[in-house]
Amino acid sequence: MNSFISYTCKGKAGVGLISGGKTYILPYRDMRECIKAGFDTSRKKDINTGGIKLMPPLIPTKIIGLGWNYAKHKKELKCSDDKPIMFLKPSSAVIGPDDSIILPKASKHVEHEIELGIVIGKTGKNISADKANDYIAGYTIILDITARDLQWGARKKGDPWDVCKGFDTFAPIGPGIVPKKFVPDPGNLSLELKVNGKTKQRSNTSDMLMKPEEIVSYVSEYMTLELGDVIASGTPEGVGPIKDGDVIESTIEKIGYMRNYAIAE
Ligand code: MG
Repeated sequence: MNSFISYTCKGKAGVGLISGGKTYILPYRDMRECIKAGFDTSRKKDINTGGIKLMPPLIPTKIIGLGWNYAKHKKELKCSDDKPIMFLKPSSAVIGPDDSIILPKASKHVEHEIELGIVIGKTGKNISADKANDYIAGYTIILDITARDLQWGARKKGDPWDVCKGFDTFAPIGPGIVPKKFVPDPGNLSLELKVNGKTKQRSNTSDMLMKPEEIVSYVSEYMTLELGDVIASGTPEGVGPIKDGDVIESTIEKIGYMRNYAIAE
């Protein structure tokens, strides 16, 4: 696995690479510069400290969420829309690996949603599906944490989802970005989310109704995609509540593993 990470070490932020069980540092100011350089690793240096803290690989310009992109999840949430719906999550919701999801007082029922995150590598609008791969930098894990009670209320009234999806800490992203060349078939990756060691969501991106390239094309019909945007491509079935003290572990094949915690506000 070649995972490009953002980290801090002794108060200093940097970009690195985890490859073959080793961690390297890369001479980039930030992840955007690394993406622009095509994830070039020719100037990588060994890092011989274990004292790094992983950060979110980047703070997206915007996070576009897709709802209803897995048939069984559509069913469990009783949705009959014909096309996936789109919503935005604020960049202020982003946290990284090993960070805590804060369960806000405003909700009594917060749920986990594991999703394949599509990281955009360059600006584009009205991108056709057959050209979409050119606009994808790579992939990551994103959790689309949702205050489900507020979402049910919003759905009943026809209100937007910004509040139920947009609380601080509701967008864990990580552990790094895996460039697309290492993910030849993003439409066939197993995903698994565990709460306190128990599997809650287990599926495969092959169950997506809209595949990553179609998703990029679809979103770009409505809004310009920019380098550093992340699309959360929808969650499979098995969503459920997280509670104070829970440990949430997310794994996507070829992309990595990320752990987060839930704590009450
Ligand atoms: Mg979702």
